[in-house]
Amino acid sequence: MTDSRFLNHLRDTLAGIEADGLMKRERLIEAAQSARVRVAGREMLNLCANNYLGLADDPRLVMAAKAAMDSHGYGMASVRFICGTQDLHRQLEQRIAGFLGMEDSILFAACFDANGGLFEPLLGEADAIVSDSLNHASIIDGVRLCKAKRYRFANNDMVDLEVQLLKAVADGARFIMIATDGVFSMDGTLANLGAISALAEKYGALTMVDDCHATGFMGPQGRGAPFHAGVKVDVLTGTLGKALGGALGGYIAGPQPMIDLLRQRARPYLFSNALPPAVVGAALAALDIVEAADDLREKLFHNAAYWRAGLEAIGFRLLPGEHPIVPVMLGDAPLAQAFARALDARGVMVSAFFYPVVPHGGARIRTQMNAALSTDDLDFALAAFEAAGKEVRAIR
Ligand SMILES: *Cc1c(COP(=O)(O)O)cnc(C)c1O
Repeated sequence: MTDSRFLNHLRDTLAGIEADGLMKRERLIEAAQSARVRVAGREMLNLCANNYLGLADDPRLVMAAKAAMDSHGYGMASVRFICGTQDLHRQLEQRIAGFLGMEDSILFAACFDANGGLFEPLLGEADAIVSDSLNHASIIDGVRLCKAKRYRFANNDMVDLEVQLLKAVADGARFIMIATDGVFSMDGTLANLGAISALAEKYGALTMVDDCHATGFMGPQGRGAPFHAGVKVDVLTGTLGKALGGALGGYIAGPQPMIDLLRQRARPYLFSNALPPAVVGAALAALDIVEAADDLREKLFHNAAYWRAGLEAIGFRLLPGEHPIVPVMLGDAPLAQAFARALDARGVMVSAFFYPVVPHGGARIRTQMNAALSTDDLDFALAAFEAAGKEVRAIR
């Protein structure tokens, strides 16, 4: 029997989370992830998935996954370097690198692992990492695991970035790496990669961009935020778990010696299983779709523009932007939660965010557009937002 004093301590912590109104509850989806999902027997419109291109239940990906299982089996039962590398893994790594304009790439079980494993092998005590304050948790953890000196700049604040770079230079850093999300997922804002690149050049720093919320749909051919900004960065990390099919898997793409060294030293790569063939095969099919045509991206951005205009016409306050992440700002947490419940009752699934995930007073419903949503779906959602907004007095 586990020590009851310890279990009571855990129960107290859980009670505290509940009392603070921070308990996260999971909805059980009873079929495939899609624009419309069945939850507890009800059909709901889903406005909170990272399924940007609507590929999560695409028959072409399902078929590619099945075909890869038929030809390459179910599991690898090994890390990559012992006996877990198939031709498919190398194909996908080269495909990703080509797509992103990099020399090579290396797969991880998730982008969380890619970011967790990136910094420690590449940088040491003599070096500096200058990191955006709103960077994803996995970057923060990866930076913590690395011995380099840490500098933090205010979100997307280029004046502060320069101040931090100057500090790192003054502290005598051997190498400096600037780390940023390509798109900040709570706000849907794009990192100012043009200015970041210019500052990197000025101070001889390397640039690392986590492009999870852009790869597949931002920029020409969906190559991501750096291409959208027209700049070249030194290292990119990304996920197969969002636009590129939504299953799981992550990668780092960069110069050959960097990828070669990560294959030798990145701990989540060395000590964790190879991706299963089904995921790798379907990711290759996702890249085929992404590279072949702009139709899904056009639908996605059409939906995003339609949705933003519709919400603004009803009177909601949005954060400005063009990204398919469209945050509806409500201010206080109870209002955001009440609004999410009122939408749920009307068959619309959204996610409310409040402190500590976003700043005090910045509570919001984060909606996300995707290419699988029809105009009818969006009109249905707009009517629901208007009715629910009036019910909870978020709008007049
Ligand atoms: C989703 C996300 C991750 C984690 O990706 P996984 O592949 O799901 O682990 C990392 N960074 C950013 C910015 C993300 O949005």
